Amino acid sequence: MNPIETSIGIKMKISEIFYSLQGEGYWAGIPAVFVRFSGCNRFCSFCDTQHNFFSTMSVKDILQKVMSLGSARRVVVTGGEPMTQLEGFHDLSLAFAAAGYEVHLETNGDFEVDPSEVDWLTVSPKGPEWKQKIGDEIKVVYTGQSKEELEQYLESSDKVYFKHRFLQPCSTPEGSNVEATVEYIKADPRWRLSLQIHKLIGVR
Ligand code: SF4
Repeated sequence: MNPIETSIGIKMKISEIFYSLQGEGYWAGIPAVFVRFSGCNRFCSFCDTQHNFFSTMSVKDILQKVMSLGSARRVVVTGGEPMTQLEGFHDLSLAFAAAGYEVHLETNGDFEVDPSEVDWLTVSPKGPEWKQKIGDEIKVVYTGQSKEELEQYLESSDKVYFKHRFLQPCSTPEGSNVEATVEYIKADPRWRLSLQIHKLIGVR
C-alpha cells in the first residue's frame, strides 16, 4: 500500500522545512531540502533548533511541502531528534523513497537505527550513552573533550564503524572554537574538519 495512505493518522512536530545547501560533513555544499524535526531527548547548550515552535504535519503535508521547494532530489531529515518520533519518521522515509528522494538522516545516536532504511546516516553523538555506532559518517561537536573521551567515537573502540569521521567546532552566540578544533585534528589526524559553511556564507 502507498506509504502516504498508511500513515494518514500520524502527525509529526516539525520545526521547519527549507531548501538550502548542506553546510556540514561529507555532503557540504550539496543542495538539499531540510526537514527539521522539533523536540529532542537531549538539551545541548549549543543547540540551534527552535523546540518551542513547531507545526504538526502528516507525512502527506511534509512530502507536499518538500516537493514544492524545487528540484533537489535529496532530503536531509534532521532535528531536533527525528528518532523521538520514530513511527512518523519510518513512514516519512518510505514516502520520500517512493517519491524518488535520496534520504539522509542526522541523529544523535541515542536510538538504534537500521542504516539500510536511509541512503546516508550521520550520527552526531552528544554523550557516552550513545547507541548507534555504525553509519556513514560520525560528526562530533568539539567542546574541548579529552582524547580519551573522543576515542569512544573511533574505530579503535568496540563495534564502532563509520566511513567518515568529522570533528566540528562548537558555535555559540559568543563565537566558535575553530582554532582549538584545528589544533586537535592536527594532533590526531584520524579526524577531518567539518565547518558549518552555511553560517560562514550567510545562508540558512
Ligand atoms: S542532540 Fe542535537 S538536536 Fe538534540 S539538543 Fe543536542 S544539538 Fe539539539
